[in-house]
Formats: sequence, structure tokens, C-alpha cells
Amino acid sequence: MNSNNEFYEIVVAGGGLAGTFAAVTAARMGKKVLLLDSGSCLGGTLTCCGVGPMMTGHSRDRQVIGGLFEELTERLKRNGYSCGHVRDTTGYISYLTPFSAEGMKLVLDEMTEEAGCETFFHVSVVGAEKCQGKISRVLVSGPEGLFWVNADIFIDATGDGDLAYYAGAPMKKGRESDGKSQPMTMNAKYCNVDRDQLLDYILKNIEKFPRLYGKEQLLRESGHLSIAGFSEEMKMAREKGILHFKREELLMFETDRKGEFIVNTTRITELDGTTVRGLSQAERVGRIQCNELDYFLKKYVPGFKDAVLEYTGPSVGIRGSRQLEGIYTLTAGDIIKGTQFETRIALAAYPIDVHNPDGQGTKSIFKMGEQGYYSIPYEVMICREISNLLVTGRCISASFEAQAAIRTTPTTSALGQAAGMAAAMVLQDSEKVKDVNGIDRKELQYKLKTRGVIL
Ligand SMILES: Cc1cc2nc3c(=O)[nH]c(=O)nc-3n(C[C@H](O)[C@H](O)[C@H](O)COP(=O)(O)OP(=O)(O)OC[C@H]3O[C@@H](n4cnc5c(N)ncnc54)[C@H](O)[C@@H]3O)c2cc1C
Repeated sequence: MNSNNEFYEIVVAGGGLAGTFAAVTAARMGKKVLLLDSGSCLGGTLTCCGVGPMMTGHSRDRQVIGGLFEELTERLKRNGYSCGHVRDTTGYISYLTPFSAEGMKLVLDEMTEEAGCETFFHVSVVGAEKCQGKISRVLVSGPEGLFWVNADIFIDATGDGDLAYYAGAPMKKGRESDGKSQPMTMNAKYCNVDRDQLLDYILKNIEKFPRLYGKEQLLRESGHLSIAGFSEEMKMAREKGILHFKREELLMFETDRKGEFIVNTTRITELDGTTVRGLSQAERVGRIQCNELDYFLKKYVPGFKDAVLEYTGPSVGIRGSRQLEGIYTLTAGDIIKGTQFETRIALAAYPIDVHNPDGQGTKSIFKMGEQGYYSIPYEVMICREISNLLVTGRCISASFEAQAAIRTTPTTSALGQAAGMAAAMVLQDSEKVKDVNGIDRKELQYKLKTRGVIL
């Protein structure tokens, strides 16, 4: 088996926003960084699972996530790939950020290349070797076969915690009571939706849309519709046998292009996205559900008659799977109380949003302390068992409910930026700092704040 002869100081597995921003941050700090992704582009779910918009970097009117998330938004805007932060017409959150997925791919390539970090696509981390509580190298599968990559520090941003799992870090999966994860969803993207017809119907029947009621002016003025509703029609379609999945309402978001909508509505339960059988079955079930939904949309939802299904997926989306059991585990209580941790490395304001693992229903808890936001401490990204591993993005150490809040992309981008900075700091001061737990939290906060991170 080959070894990659290059030596890297930091290896990041997974190029979603968390991994990309970890890599960019560490590379901007002058570190030699390799970013590995099993897909063909950066952006993770935003570019490979049709997810969007990014939501949310705001608590009411106050921005709580800045740093690279804001830089990304500015770069997308400058290139005409995003309108920036706009009001959420469902009122679920205050602001969200629509974007073009194609633009996202280009901008993330640009950011990693400018920072000088090397990126390999079509490579999966499939194993890890450990020596005396440290990962010495990771096994990678790529077009040439299997090869090893060595580094000083490893960052797991794979979403599923693959690297940490292969290295034997303590992990848990799913709901505490029964291990079940939130359902997966296959998103579908449509263009050519007659948004005026859709909007006109909603405004004329606003009493049928409890989540949009009272927001008529916002809906009229917004260039980017977020729609939640059509629950009566969905119920009728389930009773008639048109839809077979258990989702209570239609949820969809207009992208940066007028009349282009991301439909986030299918619900795939009882399958495990971390097993090959579960994931393969989820892809098939997701496509079948999207096909049923396509019929439903065209027949029962005004504005969709001539809409064109651009694509499903491409991959099914996993909301939650493995989580690190780290030095600290973020809890629902921390979020509800809006705890401001001494060692915070990110603020966030996306509420607890649990899609029911058993089927119908979504539980949301909007309380986040008096101030309306919460913080995330550094210790959720590290464990005592492996001294050179940081875990970032949606697979940090969090309870089932807390993960259902921290999982959205502005938050995971902030977590990624913090992981990249922490990894760089360990190496910067390697005489004094022996492991990822040894860094000075105050200095980490200072370094993040000077780069626009809001703490
Ligand atoms: C259906 C659905 C809808 C959602 N809707 C929204 C929304 O509207 N707005 C929002 O902000 N968030 C939304 N989310 C949440 C959000 O998309 C994810 O939680 C978030 O993208 C997680 O970011 P991440 O960087 O941690 O991981 P990901 O974005 O999942 O990135 C992980 C990356 O790691 C790579 N990878 C995985 N395993 C390996 C491996 N072994 N080796 C190498 N590379 C690997 C993958 O290819 C991927 O690029 C949604 C999620 C789902 C599933």
C-alpha cells in the first residue's frame, strides 16, 4: 500500500462548510493543510444534497455568526451568486441566506486555493492508525487505490464522524432513548415555478397557512419565498395513496433565482445512514418519495404545473448520525438557557428543530435564553482519548436535541473556523502545547474575534 510522500501538518476529512473553513483557517495561519472529500466539490450538503438556504446567522435582527460565514456571503454576493441575508417569510427564524449551489462550488474552490490548502476530491478516509493516544496516519481510498496520509493534527468534518470513529474515539448515535436518528430527506430542486401564481394563491387563502399568517406584507415584498404549508392537501394525498411518507407539511425555499425552489419535504425513517445497506436503501426510497411528490406538486400546488424538476439529491441528506462523546456534551438545556460558556468558540441562534425519527411531526423549541442565542464551547470538539483529533461540524459532542439545533450550516461553518484555528495554534506553540486540549481558550477566542468571529 502506498503512502502519500507529502507531509501535511493538518489533514481535514470532509469538505462541507465545516471542513472547508477549518482548512482555509489553518492554511491562512501558514500551515500545510490537506483537505480530503469523497465527493467532487466542496460545500457538503449545500452542493451535494441540494440543501439551502443557509440558516441562520442571526438572532432576531442581531447577527451572531460572522467570520468566514460572512466572508463567504460577501464573496457570493460580489459574484452575483447570492442576495445576502434576507428575512424568512415563514418567520421560523429571522434571516436566511439563499445562494446558487454552482456559485458556492466556485467560491469555495477560490477560498481554498487562495489560502494555499491542497484539496483532493474523490477520496474517502476509510481507516486510521493510532499510536499512544495519537492518530499517526489515515487510510484513504482514491482513484489509485488505498494510500496512507500522515499529519500532526487531524480534523474530522465528515458529518458522520467517520475519521473519529475509525480512530476509535468515543462516539454515540441517535436519540438517547433508542438510538434512532432524525429522518433523512431527499431534497428536490425545481425551476420554472410560477411564483406569482403560488404567492397569489397563498395570499388569497392565507387562513390555510398558519405559519405564514400575518406575514402577508413580507411575502409580497420578499424576492425570496420560504413556504411552509399545504398540510390539508398533503393529508388528502396521503389518504388517497398519492403520498406514502409521513410529513405533515410542504416545506420549500426559493433560491437566489426567481422561480427556482428547493423542496425539503420527503421523510425517510427507520434507516441508518451510516451503514451501506441503510444508505443505499435511503437513496432509493428518497427518489421514490420525490417522484410521488412531483406528481403531488404538479397536481395540487398552484404554480407547479409547468415546473421542471432539475434534480433530486444528488445524494440523500443525513440530519444526524454519529456524534463525538467529547470532553463536554452540549445539551438542550444549554441551548434553552442560552448558556454563555467561558470557552465559547461560536454563537448560534438556530432553534432546536427535531424531525421525528418515527415519522410525522417536527418538534421545535425556540427559547434560547433572554438574549435569543446560545454559545458552543471548545470542549465539544475534542475528547480525552485522542490528543491530536478535532471533530467539527454536525458531528460534535452534542445530545440528540442539541445536535438538532447546531446542525445548520452557518453554525457548522463557525465550528469549522474554530477547529482550524485551534489546530493551527497547537502547532504554532508545539513546545508548550502538547495536545488539542492544551491550547489557551482565551487566545483562541482573541484570534477568532480578530477574524470577524462574533463571540
Ligand atoms: C435534508 C436536509 C435539509 C437541511 N436543510 C438545511 C437548510 O435549509 N439550511 C441549513 O443551513 N442547513 C440545513 N441542513 C443541515 C446542514 O445541511 C448540515 O447539517 C450541514 O451541512 C453539516 O455541515 P458539515 O460541514 O458538518 O457536513 P456536510 O455538509 O455533510 O459535509 C461533510 C463532507 O464530508 C465528506 N465526507 C463524508 N465522509 C467522508 C469520508 N469518509 N472521507 C472524506 N470525505 C467525507 C462529504 O462528501 C461532505 O462533503 C439540512 C440537512 C439535511 C440533511
